[in-house]
Amino acid sequence: MSAIKTEGLTKRYGEKKAVDGLDLTVEKGEIFSLLGTNGAGKTTTVKMLSTLIGKTAGKAEIFGLDTEKDRQKIRQLINISPQETAIAQNLTVRENLEFMAGAYGIKNPAKKIEELTEKFGLSPVLEQKGKTLSGGWQRKLSIAIALINEPKLLFLDEPTLGLDVIARKELWSVIEAMRGEVTVILTTHYMEEAEKLSDRVAVMSSGKLRAMGTPQEIIKQSGKDNFEDAFVSLATGGEF
Ligand code: ATP
Repeated sequence: MSAIKTEGLTKRYGEKKAVDGLDLTVEKGEIFSLLGTNGAGKTTTVKMLSTLIGKTAGKAEIFGLDTEKDRQKIRQLINISPQETAIAQNLTVRENLEFMAGAYGIKNPAKKIEELTEKFGLSPVLEQKGKTLSGGWQRKLSIAIALINEPKLLFLDEPTLGLDVIARKELWSVIEAMRGEVTVILTTHYMEEAEKLSDRVAVMSSGKLRAMGTPQEIIKQSGKDNFEDAFVSLATGGEF
């Protein structure tokens, strides 16, 4: 059974098809990037897959569960780390983790928090308030929080947006450490990041899937000699 399987997944807003007949399969444990220029339909796809919005047509299954009929069951298996960091600014890092552990009814919160603190190297900032953290720490905490319910599928929406190069590289190693354990759906506009982290990528434009495969396969398919040029060519229908 795949982590994600969609057939003809479509979302229409009035006359506009934000997502148009998407056939996508993501296997368990993959790091999979959804790529596309602004307005390509990535966020709408993520919202449908994470059961936040309904679909207009087609089929979408998460671990074999239907995104509309089995919404509650799916929500127990997934989590989302949104673009805008979801941390409480007036709580310390430790309190943020404790609060979310409580919200999810985690059985042994102290153990879970210790595990996440170690995994994300949060010890130096544990007693610092959210609002005093740098962008890099905020994103790390945000992802740690999203892992608190041990999701089997994690959506990461532009996790390194606006971060400096060092914070970005730190976050990459955090994401890489999840490979094989958690299925990760990443959306990003940074092609270097997508190429480095992804087992496979999907390139979307105007709501449609234009290509899907490993970064190497995408390069081959486009006839270009690097990933960024391959993306531009596929996302623009060969215009560039
Ligand atoms: P970005 O990289 O800019 O975040 P995206 O690939 O995530 O873009 P979406 O946000 O999914 O793209 O949007 C796809 C299309 O659907 C866009 O043309 C957008 O204007 C439209 N759209 C998205 N949400 C709505 C909505 N609630 N009502 C009407 N149109 C919408």
